[in-house]
Amino acid sequence: MLEIVQVPILGDNYAYLLHEPQQGTTAAVDPGEAAPLLAAAEARGWGIDLILLTHHHADHIAGVAGIREATGAAVVAPLADLGRIENVDIAVADGETVHLGATHAAVLETPGHTSGHVAYWFMADDALFAGDTLFALGCGRLFEGTAEQMWESLSRLRALPDETRVFCGHEYTAGNARFARALDPENAALAARVETIARLVEAKQPTVPSLLGEEKTTNPFLRADDPDLAARLGLAGQPAAAVFAEIRRRKDVA
Ligand code: ZN
Ligand code: FE
Repeated sequence: MLEIVQVPILGDNYAYLLHEPQQGTTAAVDPGEAAPLLAAAEARGWGIDLILLTHHHADHIAGVAGIREATGAAVVAPLADLGRIENVDIAVADGETVHLGATHAAVLETPGHTSGHVAYWFMADDALFAGDTLFALGCGRLFEGTAEQMWESLSRLRALPDETRVFCGHEYTAGNARFARALDPENAALAARVETIARLVEAKQPTVPSLLGEEKTTNPFLRADDPDLAARLGLAGQPAAAVFAEIRRRKDVA
């Protein structure tokens, strides 16, 4: 089973170390800084063999050069971002497989936040590295994509099993929770989850990972095709992408 170490960096980013114990292979996911990941690996006696990147934003890739230089790790990045990320060794596209020792991840293209964004799904380990596409109770801003694209991307992630752990790129959950509660005040599952989140934040504990099953019932950005939520927003009968666009717009100005 994959050992996953969550490494807080840069204020509110999460990078990750993934260690596959059978072959002793380790990957770093979205290293926006090098030093904290190198230190976390060294503390456990691990090297870093692979670097998995979800998208080209600096807060996810700025540590690549430092880790590559220190460890010789191979860099895996979205094919669509080849012109925007340096030092890529393995360019990946939708449906391809990335091997990490005895386990592997499926590459899922999830455009919307950026046009080249990918997520890495380790099916056997119930772990999804979602970058800035899906957050706990939220989703990424639409910097390079349309609402239709992002809704399609989120719908693909939503189709994964409930027991999937969602490892996202940022600790944005407290703000997302406030927004979600105001938007969807009668959702009892959401109300209960917001209380749990408040306790974690109070105790200065991470709220990530979450379970995809709980995102499905509580994350408003995954519920744009729920008729009750659409009606609440005055959008009864509208296509899900239009409802999603309105939820995203409200969050952007919240
Ligand atoms: Zn980003
Ligand atoms: Fe980011």
